[in-house]
Amino acid sequence: MSGRILVVDDIEPNVRLLKAKLEAEYYDVITANNGMDAIESARQFVPDLILLDVMMPQMDGFEVCTRLKNDPRTRHIPVVMVTALDHQEDKVKGLEAGADDFLSKPIDDVALFARVRSLLRLKMVMDELRQREASGRALGAISDTMPRLDDTDTPANILILEDDERQCARLAHKLGEGYHLALCTDPREASERLDAENFDLLVVNLAARGFDGLRLCARMRSNDKGRVIPILALVNPDNREQIVRAFDIGVNDVLLRPVDANELTARVNTQLRCKHYADTLRQSLDSSFEMSVTDQLTGLHNRRFMQTRIEDALTRLERGVESASILIADVDHFKLVNDRWGHDAGDKVLQEVASRIKANMRAIDILCRYGGEEFVVVMPGSDINAAMQAAERLREAVALEPFELGSEHGTIPITISAGVTELFKGDTHETGLIRADKALYHAKSKGRNRVLSAGMNKGQLQESLG
Ligand SMILES: [Mg+2]
Repeated sequence: MSGRILVVDDIEPNVRLLKAKLEAEYYDVITANNGMDAIESARQFVPDLILLDVMMPQMDGFEVCTRLKNDPRTRHIPVVMVTALDHQEDKVKGLEAGADDFLSKPIDDVALFARVRSLLRLKMVMDELRQREASGRALGAISDTMPRLDDTDTPANILILEDDERQCARLAHKLGEGYHLALCTDPREASERLDAENFDLLVVNLAARGFDGLRLCARMRSNDKGRVIPILALVNPDNREQIVRAFDIGVNDVLLRPVDANELTARVNTQLRCKHYADTLRQSLDSSFEMSVTDQLTGLHNRRFMQTRIEDALTRLERGVESASILIADVDHFKLVNDRWGHDAGDKVLQEVASRIKANMRAIDILCRYGGEEFVVVMPGSDINAAMQAAERLREAVALEPFELGSEHGTIPITISAGVTELFKGDTHETGLIRADKALYHAKSKGRNRVLSAGMNKGQLQESLG
């Protein structure tokens, strides 16, 4: 995995040493010797990761980190604080400033590369979400209010897996109030609960004698539900190999035993913040994507979505993969419905037409509300004959059963007219729709409640047999 890393340290030999180590692993390295330069470089080059010295004159690492995390341009870049000694207070202070991780000097290569790989992987996931979010915003589908990183309103659900019951209780005690904790000593029970319930974090003791915690982590990472749950692993500091394997399997963070209560809380909260951020982004993307392609009244696809799907069908047609047809249907005398029974009744009619379209078309057909009382169905793989049969079936389904408008109005008869055309090489979605619309126009002028098709020759219209 390659990436661009910003190394910040006030002592030049430290910078050179880290740069050399990272470049030997093919990372792209930029450097800064003080806090102001670091912030400037972070804004200008937007690195994938920042290794930040804590002890620096003028502006120390905590201050730099706080500023980076408060700036929307640099907030998403993971920061690893490099502390001179293994000072517990420094770690907690750093986590509170928003640091994502720590390394102590002298920097151990194994720990360095394990942390770097893990954070770069996390950043890749976040970048993808951010990119999708940016395009959603460009389409006008997402508002400009970014979810805030610290907006957690409900207590997080955390599962703690530790084979020793007393240790398990001690961990729960160290975490304190403010979380929903589930305590497990049996990995099988933990697995089942992770599948069945919604957890925001797994804390697992990899040093447990009774089970292989890494196996559980690996299994979690291989299913869709488990993949998005962050894992914080407790490890013995001398078990380097396990730390490296944990990160490689996809554990998000490790905490060295014996567990310090403040560091535990800080690391747990960091993971929960990331999870919350990713969840919020995913939700807003899902709902805005859904909204941007769906007609709110009928639940069918909207015009924008329809156009892209016709273009898709045309692409497959040009490649000789399959034929495709489209139909436009229009509710006959719809204005009369609105005038006589009101707009609510009109809406009900449109919803019922939509549900009859759903019931009578195939799963692969793309069903859209074109606007007003017009509907379009894109039929991939259908030639004109198949499309005419489908359209005729739909016309019948609408005409045969009167529409129920509720106790106020009772039932009223509704019919539709439709124009159908096969798509041909050289068509665009516009030329296809124009042809189908012409057929629809003729169906209307011939008395409505009928389906007509349009061939390639303009004006040559053929009435259906139905
Ligand atoms: Mg320093």
